[in-house]
Amino acid sequence: MLINSIQQKTKSKYPKFGVNKVQTMTRLVYEIAKRDHISEEEVLNSIPRHLIKFDQIKACLLKQRYPNCSKDEISQVKIFPSLDLDPALAVDLNRTKLKIKPQEFLIEKAVKDSRLAKRVSQLFPHTPVHLIDSYNSHIKKNQFSITNYNHRLNQIFVVQEKFNYITPCPCTKDCVCCGYTILNCGTGCGFECEYCFLQSYTNAPGIVIPANIEDYLQKIGEITNPTRIGTGQFTDSLIFDHITEYSKEIIPFVRNKPHIQFEFKTKSNNITNLLSIPAAENVVAAWSINPPRLIDQCEHFTASLQERLTAAKQCQDHGYKVAFHFDPIIYFDKWKEEYTQVIDDIFTSVKAEKIAWISLGTLRMTLKQKQTIESRFPQNTILDQEFICGFDDKLRYNNVLRAELYQTLLDKIHQHSKQVHVYLCMEDQAMHKKCNCDNVTV
Ligand code: SF4
Ligand code: SF4
Repeated sequence: MLINSIQQKTKSKYPKFGVNKVQTMTRLVYEIAKRDHISEEEVLNSIPRHLIKFDQIKACLLKQRYPNCSKDEISQVKIFPSLDLDPALAVDLNRTKLKIKPQEFLIEKAVKDSRLAKRVSQLFPHTPVHLIDSYNSHIKKNQFSITNYNHRLNQIFVVQEKFNYITPCPCTKDCVCCGYTILNCGTGCGFECEYCFLQSYTNAPGIVIPANIEDYLQKIGEITNPTRIGTGQFTDSLIFDHITEYSKEIIPFVRNKPHIQFEFKTKSNNITNLLSIPAAENVVAAWSINPPRLIDQCEHFTASLQERLTAAKQCQDHGYKVAFHFDPIIYFDKWKEEYTQVIDDIFTSVKAEKIAWISLGTLRMTLKQKQTIESRFPQNTILDQEFICGFDDKLRYNNVLRAELYQTLLDKIHQHSKQVHVYLCMEDQAMHKKCNCDNVTV
């Protein structure tokens, strides 16, 4: 569907409308036509002829776009940003598997002799290595674009991190925080989940991996309070583990620190290193999880559900605790049966008493993220649902739908086990109350 064509048709039908009004109508017409698989003409023709004022026409289109939202909820949809659907920005989804074969390594001079720098040269002997003064000075000279982001696996930066080792999980405004802590040892991921927040968050043209893991370990060593900490916030925890082998350094380091619970969160089945060393009771191997249909449709190049569950069982048999994150939970017509089936599959695959925690979080995004998804994944269906501006200014499903999604998954989990700790991620107090959940740190 060409945006220009919607604009032209709107302008010719409503010649008195100015730029902003045409932009609003273009977005609404586009979203309705895309969701319903109809043409822009059909949407424009559905507007009754007697409606001539912009506010009436907008209200008519909003009603079509948000049929399940109340008037109040619809009134929260205030911004109708422009559409930028350049086909050149779309992700190439023709590959079937993840291939990590960088075209160059850019290594900061300060870490040129590090173990990681030596390891990448051994693993990729034919890949050129360029020494750079610093990552920051390098990116200042090179303007970031979505095209860079689409080809981020081509460039791997090996850097010396100096400050940003450990941070509290930023959560979001007015959310009930679970007290999670992030170990920032890597930015960027090679998977292509359509909802990934990194695509509108990072300005890194490649994958950035710090070489000085010993400094991170030192920072973990300084923690004295009970802490849940993990690496899976700005990257997938295990996607590059066969290159960095950081799990093999982190696990022995935290093994005798029972006040730490260390989590590797992944959508891969890259667990060879985890299985190659003795497990630690306070190390949790965790999988973000979704029904197979959603994995196929919007978690491109990740491991299948079966591969994730098999890996979870192997880790559990080896002695690790395991965890699962239903995050993001995505609404679709068969969500109830397919999500509850995944919960059955989890409890068939692993022992309930070895599950450290399960988190639930429904799909949410910033407006910028929505625009990036539209550009990079024009075929997506995840944006076809009704999102309104939530308590934290992020786009979310409305309260009724979110509560139903959470309650259904909670009930199903509790049918299997009442002991397993379940928490909501990035939700406000009201939703916790509604679902009878607390976010006590485990
Ligand atoms: S609830 Fe989710 S976003 Fe908030 S601190 Fe915990 S893990 Fe982070
Ligand atoms: S696995 Fe996580 S970090 Fe990687 S693309 Fe998917 S959502 Fe983003």
